[in-house]
Amino acid sequence: MTTKMKISFDLDDLLIPGIKQFDTERQGFLQKIFNTEKLRLGTIELFKDLKSQGHQICIYTTSFRTPFKIWLTFFLYRLNLDGIVNKTLHDKKIMNIGLSCSKYPPMFDIDIHIDDSEGVKIEAQRHNFRAIIITENDKNWTETVLTGINNYL
Ligand SMILES: [Mg+2]
Repeated sequence: MTTKMKISFDLDDLLIPGIKQFDTERQGFLQKIFNTEKLRLGTIELFKDLKSQGHQICIYTTSFRTPFKIWLTFFLYRLNLDGIVNKTLHDKKIMNIGLSCSKYPPMFDIDIHIDDSEGVKIEAQRHNFRAIIITENDKNWTETVLTGINNYL
């Protein structure tokens, strides 16, 4: 059985190091020129793998990075995103449904959300959406994501 899903990824401390630190993908000339952010090592292969399975990939961040900035960060790694949700868009939508939730993926037709936050894990249980939580020290984090997604298929 093949199921195509819309999968979203958090940015800060999941794909982009901040408080949490991890190895990152190597950057080329253009990325240095545009000073775009570095992505966690493994992101490129993981995204290509998920795309080849027919899934859609989105970014869902509670930061105020502009959609263009996020798009460019991934585009310069030759990764095409199928959707971008930043805090501005999240706030606008969540107000309409009157829910108190830092992230609510069903609002954007997202089937599974990947995050580093324990808070999101609690929200997922409370509001009944699917989430996979990755820890800082998970060296096989891409495997954790793939296994987690397969468990939901
Ligand atoms: Mg995060």
